[in-house]
Amino acid sequence: MTGMNALFACLKDRIERDGPLSVAQFMELALGHPEYGYYTSRDPLGERGDFITAPEISQIFGELIGAWSATVWQAMGAPACFNLVEMGPGRGTLLADALRATKTVDGFHQAIRLHLIEMSPVLRAKQGAALAGIDSQCSEALWHRDVSQVPDGPSIIIANEFFDALPVRQFLRVMASWRERMVGLNDARDSLEFSLGEQPVKPHYIPVPLRNASDGAWAETSPAGLRIMHTLADRVTQQGGAALIIDYGHSETAPGETLQAVQSHQFVDVLASPGEQDLTTHVDFAALGRTARDAGAQVHGPTTQGEFLNGLGLPVRARRLAAGAIDDAQAATVISGADRLVGPSQMGTLFKVMGISEPAIDSLPGLS
Ligand code: SAH
Repeated sequence: MTGMNALFACLKDRIERDGPLSVAQFMELALGHPEYGYYTSRDPLGERGDFITAPEISQIFGELIGAWSATVWQAMGAPACFNLVEMGPGRGTLLADALRATKTVDGFHQAIRLHLIEMSPVLRAKQGAALAGIDSQCSEALWHRDVSQVPDGPSIIIANEFFDALPVRQFLRVMASWRERMVGLNDARDSLEFSLGEQPVKPHYIPVPLRNASDGAWAETSPAGLRIMHTLADRVTQQGGAALIIDYGHSETAPGETLQAVQSHQFVDVLASPGEQDLTTHVDFAALGRTARDAGAQVHGPTTQGEFLNGLGLPVRARRLAAGAIDDAQAATVISGADRLVGPSQMGTLFKVMGISEPAIDSLPGLS
């Protein structure tokens, strides 16, 4: 049996036993099933994988985030010991580039306690290999399933394309009430199909700005994303530090459903082959910001990825790197990679960057 059939069989058993799943329950199993989940069973990244991310496109991305982290550490009063946490580090490329770029910052590496939040055993192995190549004075990395397992203390937390992978619940406005979108079986019981929950749901699930939307509007919310944001915001507020969230999404809460599936760099049907395709949604930065403020954190941005990276000096860094390239082809690759990160029709506008910090830090690099 293939992994896909195996996961479909698990979902089918579960639906036959308990009834249709919420979209969040479906996403959680499709991405994180211990054996057949998309992330648990593979490394999906890269040109030959399903999708590519900023750190895999250009080393400049990780280098600038390294510089960002060192500056924030100084703004925190350069604590002798702090947690450098990455949420969903993929292949570990961002962290490796960030550490390489900050070797000469006095005392920075000695202060770092590295913590990686990762659910995929395949990717944990790749992250370990990426970090092993770095000649650094930081502590050995520790891996956790959840950020709440990171020891107390000031922290700098990085999350690039992490929140988009967290499960969402979706609701449709029908006759002035909200009904939840569910995933069930078709009549032949050989594939998945969407349906609507029979009972209206309580409005407290719905993001406040959407509660009175017109019939036909979709509302989307990520309880897991909000819970994690609350944990991060509470941590930096109580213990010091900052977090940087980078992802595709919108700055304001808006109606719409954004669940998408990608396989081999193409959009595909979201229910077609669970466990074989990446599932993501656009991140609602306004909702994350409200949660962070409620927990007492200072919120910075969001701004676009283009503005953020340009503000951190991407053009200068790209020119310097291109000038040192071994030939014209390598120089062209450096420039095109940098353009892809900030170009308005590429990642520069769709991707947003938001910072949160302890209240005493009133501005963060690239976000003021
Ligand atoms: N940040 C990386 C990878 C992005 S892909 C990059 O930019 O290249 C999403 C990452 O988050 C993967 O490492 C995936 O395994 C991890 N991930 C997704 N959902 C997770 C969860 N609920 N808990 C922990 N890690 C998760």
